[in-house]
Amino acid sequence: MKFGGTSVKDPEAFARVASIVNREKGNGAVVVTSAMARVTDALLAAFETAKAGDSSAAFSSLGEHFARHEEVSSELLGDQSRKAFGAELELAKEELSSLLMRVERRSLPLQMLKDAIVAYGEQLSSRLLTEVLKAEGLKARHVDARRLIVTDDEYGSAKPLWDETEELVRGDLESSVEEGEIPVMGGFIAANRSGETTTLGRGGSDYSAALVGAALDAREIQIWTDVTGVLTCDPRICADASTIDVLSYNEAAELAYFGAKVLHPKTIQPAVDHGIPVRVCNSQRPEERGTMVLAESGVSDNRIKSIAHKTGITILRISSARMLGSYGFMSALFQVFERFRTVIDVISTSEVSVALTLDNTEYLDKVVTELERLGDVEVEHGYAVICIVGEGLRDSSGLASKIFSTIDDVNVSLISHGASSVNLTFVVKEEYVREVISRLHGRFFPHSA
Ligand code: ASP
Ligand code: MG
Repeated sequence: MKFGGTSVKDPEAFARVASIVNREKGNGAVVVTSAMARVTDALLAAFETAKAGDSSAAFSSLGEHFARHEEVSSELLGDQSRKAFGAELELAKEELSSLLMRVERRSLPLQMLKDAIVAYGEQLSSRLLTEVLKAEGLKARHVDARRLIVTDDEYGSAKPLWDETEELVRGDLESSVEEGEIPVMGGFIAANRSGETTTLGRGGSDYSAALVGAALDAREIQIWTDVTGVLTCDPRICADASTIDVLSYNEAAELAYFGAKVLHPKTIQPAVDHGIPVRVCNSQRPEERGTMVLAESGVSDNRIKSIAHKTGITILRISSARMLGSYGFMSALFQVFERFRTVIDVISTSEVSVALTLDNTEYLDKVVTELERLGDVEVEHGYAVICIVGEGLRDSSGLASKIFSTIDDVNVSLISHGASSVNLTFVVKEEYVREVISRLHGRFFPHSA
């Protein structure tokens, strides 16, 4: 059971988590928690402030977040455990203050210090949650994730070393779970082989949960968040958007780009490799079943599971007679994007031109200057990518026609279909997004209205 930052944002949220875990008592649960909401951002900001030379301002900026932990502790814990957690928090403060000083003085490699600092978010939330669960009468035991998840040395986005991690997780957690204990650990944090703290990248708590679930061959990995699973479309556009019951790993992967609310494919890979179902559920509405993500989701009646979108998209078109019948052109083109670390999202080609979309335009000018050596370049801003996802989409005849006939008065600027069997993506001007999505949703999900 993994709880994200919003699921542990304040005393009420902690209390909800305790009752959710309580329901699974006796089922062999392991709890993985994120830092309290906003704490990771605050720690990263403090690191930057210290790096810029003001470690004491950096430390002060964390005050309100220490207080949030104290508030949970004083509302939910008894005297003794409140004292125990208080002592833990005091230690954390001292350590953080000295780490921030080290950042200012550059007395250790900065990347290493950054992970050591940011790890306090999960260290504290997991300690606190352990005490809260105990106060609920559960046999919770705090486990330091850094003793179980072993990674390489890439601070900030370390890669887990599976074999070692699996062995440690099994060794520490298996018998404990069998004995009815509920291990509680921080997500996101790990350590390299020498024992230095590393982190798995932003949002990495899902990754931790998937690793632990896979190592223990769990029946299910639950990702508790603040939305009820994955929706048929953005509820801000269609009020009748509904929760999807079952998604395949492939469908979930295609949707990942469109919002942090959906699982990142990298983070659930361990679950995918071990065929373990992942359930996304809402800690504010625990009675709802959320969305189950598993190997096979089955084809839905209308083939379509979800209509996702993203605005703020820029289209680049490169045309060059040199492209016709020659090889190496694409390679030269992609190298430009690689050099400027710019991610391409949608791509479509003709014989003499390529169109592609970007959502990060930080290096756009440089990219365009370089691309102009290859051909004529056009840049157009203000677009939106719309992505329709569903198993069986590529192999269904008439579906594209059904989709586009629904919006036949809207100009479609770019289409990409067939790369994946579950995805049809197209691009329209931003101002049409609401209209396009509500019409498509109305046509393909008429019953949810
Ligand atoms: N606390 C970390 C973050 O905000 C990890 C997580 O929440 O998954 O990125
Ligand atoms: Mg998160």
